[in-house]
Amino acid sequence: MALRTIRLQGDPVLTKKCREIESLTPKISQLIDDMLETMYEAEGVGLAGPQVGVLRRVVVIDIGDGPLVMINPVLLESDGEQSGDEGCLSLPGKAGVVTRPNYVKARAYNRYMEEFEVEGTELLARAICHELDHLEGHMYTEKVEGGIHDVQPEEE
Ligand code: ZN
Repeated sequence: MALRTIRLQGDPVLTKKCREIESLTPKISQLIDDMLETMYEAEGVGLAGPQVGVLRRVVVIDIGDGPLVMINPVLLESDGEQSGDEGCLSLPGKAGVVTRPNYVKARAYNRYMEEFEVEGTELLARAICHELDHLEGHMYTEKVEGGIHDVQPEEE
């Protein structure tokens, strides 16, 4: 595994639509391993392909329940509403209030290209919506209400 460089807002790769992954290749498996390692190292809860410069439809998420790998994810259902602070590894040290569904159901393929469905509420719903937006070339900053603010680093 290897750490990948996280692309920061302003990098044009973050504004492009991603292509589907047709089949599992060693390169894709490596990409997934690297994305997980990069996300954990950066202490993020999610990371999408374009954030490491790869315009493919793959995201990794971990809200503290273990890794969730989603290849070619599709949102099936959403319900409710939640408003809260959201951040992004492509805009470190910043956050802003975004309204998202409080529940989502999505379909995707796992790292073995097996189809599965996942349901999430609260943080998981937020993370899924945030990462799926990246695959369409969108950042949360386009949806922020009331401006972006600085986040104080947590005290060790
Ligand atoms: Zn993000």
